[in-house]
Amino acid sequence: MSIVPKPYVKELRPKCIPSKERKIGETQGLGHSAQGFILPCCWMDTPPMQRDKKQEIFYQEKFKISNVDDIKKDILESKEWVEFYLMLQQAPNKAPDVCFKMCGEGKEFGKGIDKYGEE
Ligand code: SF4
Repeated sequence: MSIVPKPYVKELRPKCIPSKERKIGETQGLGHSAQGFILPCCWMDTPPMQRDKKQEIFYQEKFKISNVDDIKKDILESKEWVEFYLMLQQAPNKAPDVCFKMCGEGKEFGKGIDKYGEE
């Protein structure tokens, strides 16, 4: 038996994507930042200095609400947003840390703290 602790692994179960397994109240709706951006959820609203680079896609000037005519077409159906939701489902290891912090599920194998600093 190895004395090296097994890595802490969380499974990503995005609350922003509807699922039959989720009960009412367990889903997460769109968020809105004070800077004028729509976000996949309120947890994505992070001050610029604390933001993961993977979150920056939502803060592009072209996605600022005041810069678009049609929120659905110009933001929610944009290539970046569609690819983000596909990534959450098909390549969740590429998701921003906040996604694992807020929507990660699983048991820890080592002791105590996971790689995101949470118990
Ligand atoms: S934290 Fe990430 S996975 Fe969770 S609801 Fe927000 S965007 Fe979706």
